[in-house]
Amino acid sequence: MRTEVLGVGFDSVTMSEALDAAEKLMERPGADYIVTPNPEIVMACREDPEVKRAVEGASLVLPDGIGVIYGAKILGTPLKAKVPGADFAENLMARMAGKGRSVYLLGAKPGVAELAGEKLSAKYPGLRIAGTADGYFKDDGPVIEAINAARPDLLLVCLGAPKQEKWMAANRDKLTVPLMAGLGGSLDVYAGAVKRAPEVWQKLELEWLYRLIKQPSRLGRMMKLPKFLLCVIGERLKGR
Ligand code: UDP
Repeated sequence: MRTEVLGVGFDSVTMSEALDAAEKLMERPGADYIVTPNPEIVMACREDPEVKRAVEGASLVLPDGIGVIYGAKILGTPLKAKVPGADFAENLMARMAGKGRSVYLLGAKPGVAELAGEKLSAKYPGLRIAGTADGYFKDDGPVIEAINAARPDLLLVCLGAPKQEKWMAANRDKLTVPLMAGLGGSLDVYAGAVKRAPEVWQKLELEWLYRLIKQPSRLGRMMKLPKFLLCVIGERLKGR
């Protein structure tokens, strides 16, 4: 049973439960996919049924940011933990390294995925980089062919939201990978092109503010957050 936040069902899991579930999905046939919605994607699901279907079709729906955690709390159905997408995938790759498993990195600007691959394989010896491709392709066909030929255990789809969610849902039947995860700007983080907030900021749940200061152009997108909270409060009041 998923925990609903404004109509989007989330899996209430800790980081280690999410990792165990992902490892199980990697072992079963069929291309499962994982999504990590933040409040912006929850709002996109309310506005675009295709995004909602794509998110609902995921085998694991992880709450990416503190906004969703607060939302669930206000609604009286708290989620166990925040499971940020970039951290989750990195922890999963750390586990995969021990088993000699492989990952394909798809997305971001040309050169970023290769650099991310170099950094990840240096950090997690044993992890195999099955291939990389940038996220600015026109035709899906050749990209899908290259991924299938590389036979990765995991495909990271980093095309930004909601493009990556729609892409995974639309192409899962053509892909022979066992597991995909939609991870937004994570390749930029792994490549070192975008820095995560210092740990104190993360502990204070202020990572969103750090990202806003570093990239003020995100302000327009972040205005979805107050709208999200207002909707949550509205739902809560209706429920009383
Ligand atoms: N991106 C891409 N193809 C596109 C649009 C975006 O590969 O057609 C990449 C972009 O280069 C960036 C990521 O998708 O690496 C989106 O990053 P952002 O921080 O906006 O994503 P979020 O994590 O906030 O969804």
